[in-house]
Amino acid sequence: MSMLEVSGLNAWYGESHILHGVDLNVEEGEVVTLLGRNGAGKTTTLKSIMGLVGRREGSVKFHGAETIGLMPNLIARAGIAFCPEERGIFGSLSVTENLMLPPIVAPGGLSVDEIYTLFPNLKERAMTAHGTRLSGGEQQMLAIARILRTGARMLLLDEPTEGLAPVIVQQIGRTIREIKSRGFTVLLVEQNFRFAATVADRHYVMERGKIVDRIENSQLEANMDKLHEYLGV
Ligand code: ATP
Repeated sequence: MSMLEVSGLNAWYGESHILHGVDLNVEEGEVVTLLGRNGAGKTTTLKSIMGLVGRREGSVKFHGAETIGLMPNLIARAGIAFCPEERGIFGSLSVTENLMLPPIVAPGGLSVDEIYTLFPNLKERAMTAHGTRLSGGEQQMLAIARILRTGARMLLLDEPTEGLAPVIVQQIGRTIREIKSRGFTVLLVEQNFRFAATVADRHYVMERGKIVDRIENSQLEANMDKLHEYLGV
């Protein structure tokens, strides 16, 4: 049994039918990426897993239990956390205050002290910096830190490297590898497959609301031509 098993997932925003039968699975402890061009449906897949779309059909099983009929708050309580591209941190609050806010959905979430050990650069900014005064990289770290507080063991990360400088992208990569080494499971949306290759066990490629390929990370190099074609880069 996979930790997350998505099959025949369809999703709509109003009348727009965006996902057309997405099938994917993620094993406990894996880091898996969803690659694909703009508009392929990657973000919608993460949102659909959380129940954050207008309508969804199909099956999304978490630890074998069907969640398709559940409201987003109950899906979160099952132990899945979503870190949106827009990061969702509170600009007027300090770093520590941001870390105190997330709801605890399950035991085993990281304490604020543990967060500061994992993210030393956030510790330096703990009391002084308000969310909006943080750099893009610090905001992304804080957004990931917040979901680590909740106790969720499955993390859905939407383009954590978007718009960040290469040196910060490397830091995010280290963070994701550290999270994996602590036993968390990650489903990660990425456009940057060079980054994805440094963190993931395997990759799914999406096109027009469907999964069109599955590539082991060790096979990425051998599939470069195909990937360039898929991603249009
Ligand atoms: P990107 O990297 O651009 O976010 P993506 O692969 O994550 O790409 P989605 O954001 O999932 O793609 O978008 C898939 C399709 O759904 C696009 O055609 C987009 O225009 C449409 N879409 C996204 N959000 C909404 C919404 N709230 N209402 C209606 N259509 C939407």
